[in-house]
Amino acid sequence: MNQNKVRVRFAPSPTGYLHVGGLRTALYNYLFARKNNGVFILRIEDTDRNRYVEGAVENLIATLRWAGLDYDEGPHKGGDYGPYFQSERLEIYRKYAEQLLSEGTAYRCFCASERLEKMRKTQEKMKLSSKYDRTCLHLPESEIEKKLIDGDPYVIRMKIPENRIIKFYDIIRQDVEFSSELIDDQVLIKSDGYPTYHLANVVDDHLMKITHVIRGEEWLSSVPKHILLYEYFGWEVPNLAHLPLLLNPDKSKLSKRQGDVAVEDYKAKGYLKEALVNFVAFLGWNPGTTQELFDLNQLIEQFSLERVNKAGAVFNIEKLNWLNFEHLRKKTEAEVLNMLKDYLSQTEYKNLQLDDAYLLKVIEAMRARVTFIKDFVEKGKYFFEPPIIYDEEIVNKRWREETPEQLKRLSEFFSGLTNPTKEDYEVALHKTAQSLNIGNGKLIHAVRLAVSGVGGGPGLYDILNILGKDESIKRIENAINRIKL
Ligand code: GLU
Repeated sequence: MNQNKVRVRFAPSPTGYLHVGGLRTALYNYLFARKNNGVFILRIEDTDRNRYVEGAVENLIATLRWAGLDYDEGPHKGGDYGPYFQSERLEIYRKYAEQLLSEGTAYRCFCASERLEKMRKTQEKMKLSSKYDRTCLHLPESEIEKKLIDGDPYVIRMKIPENRIIKFYDIIRQDVEFSSELIDDQVLIKSDGYPTYHLANVVDDHLMKITHVIRGEEWLSSVPKHILLYEYFGWEVPNLAHLPLLLNPDKSKLSKRQGDVAVEDYKAKGYLKEALVNFVAFLGWNPGTTQELFDLNQLIEQFSLERVNKAGAVFNIEKLNWLNFEHLRKKTEAEVLNMLKDYLSQTEYKNLQLDDAYLLKVIEAMRARVTFIKDFVEKGKYFFEPPIIYDEEIVNKRWREETPEQLKRLSEFFSGLTNPTKEDYEVALHKTAQSLNIGNGKLIHAVRLAVSGVGGGPGLYDILNILGKDESIKRIENAINRIKL
């Protein structure tokens, strides 16, 4: 392993949103840096001008910040190796491309795109791998001069050596090799003067002193080109680690079609950052123990690239939901209260002016039943408004002709209580059931339906205690008037 101080980078191309795969790459880089007292760099690879999306970078930075992955060097933060936007480094790439030109490891190609397209089609027909035919590699110097004077547009291509096996070691995939015969004379500088990914990436990784390149497996096939570039420049190749693909449960490549891929979508759906980070950490890595719940610090402690698998990682939303449930359970009441208030302020209940004491009681009663903050409202709607409709199935099951009469007796009993506690409701219900000569269950189910409109939820006496005596009585009376068999 490289003995220098660990320096890693997350190098997204800003396409508008952060993909969960991107979050995993960022997370693994972050964990590796923190674990090794290294430096985590954010570099924006924005050299594809066709893919420019307004606001994409800000959005990306905000999403990283939300996830808690702060970088040490990068946009808005600076550092000794900036600028950290590739679009601000064009001169640098140009200089290095010129160096390769003068050394003969790169050449200018003036071929028009129509010609290249035709060539590609012919190769396709003949079932050959698509490769530039090197017409311009053999252009005489005088012709090149003339074309330059005429201002003909050109690209700069790297010259790939023939018949070479390019070998490298990847921390996750171990020994890998590619034949140079399969590699095209890659364009390094496009006709608009912008570099391609390959040149910019290698130059920046070198100049920014990156010690470990940790990125998705889709970049593995680019490595041979990069190795050659390092060789042409006489630079040391950083350590490499290519992370396994993310797969849908049917083992196809994780795609937009089968669900959300943007981190923001998960955020908007109410997933906690702790759950998403914990989940994403396990997409390709495991600690080798049975521990599944991790916070960021525990991940830093236990993470290692050696424990990242080669096999594709299946994206299992059930697991994410379970993690959300568990991480939500770990929050303090005060934290949940804040989240709930924040959530309520975005709902139809924003003007209810419920006091904290009330909400805390709701939280206590519902905690064990919620996966998301929104569940407090969706599953416990009756804490925020009286039932408007009554679950038909439960009505059929629990409501009898004699029920209204029985509930009337109960509500009379309730009326006589002063400042009742949870236990007082219980005693009152038991006594009423006794005097009516019926089982407690009959009353419990009917009251639950009357006050909540549904059949499940926290303990009935908790619900009554939270709603309070007057509201409970009002709801029981409403139900008596409204539930018709
Ligand atoms: N810009 C590339 C991307 O969008 C970076 C790949 C790399 O890390 O080398 O993923």
